Amino acid sequence: MAKIKRVRTKPCTRCEETCDVLYRVRIDEDGRWIFVCPACLEKVKPGNSHYQYGGTWKSKKRH
Ligand SMILES: [Zn+2]
Repeated sequence: MAKIKRVRTKPCTRCEETCDVLYRVRIDEDGRWIFVCPACLEKVKPGNSHYQYGGTWKSKKRH
C-alpha cells in the first residue's frame, strides 16, 4: 500500500499564494488572525497600529 503524501501548505490571506512559510498576524481592528506570506508582511506591517505577531507557520517541520 502506497501512502498518499499530503502537502501541507496554506494560502496567504492577502495574495492567496501558497507558501512554505507564513506569518500569523493581526492587522485589522476586528482582531482577526490571518496568515500572510513574507512579501505581504512587509506591506502590511509598516505603520500598522493593529499589527500583532502571533507566530510563524511552516509546512515543513524540522525536529
Ligand atoms: Zn501574500
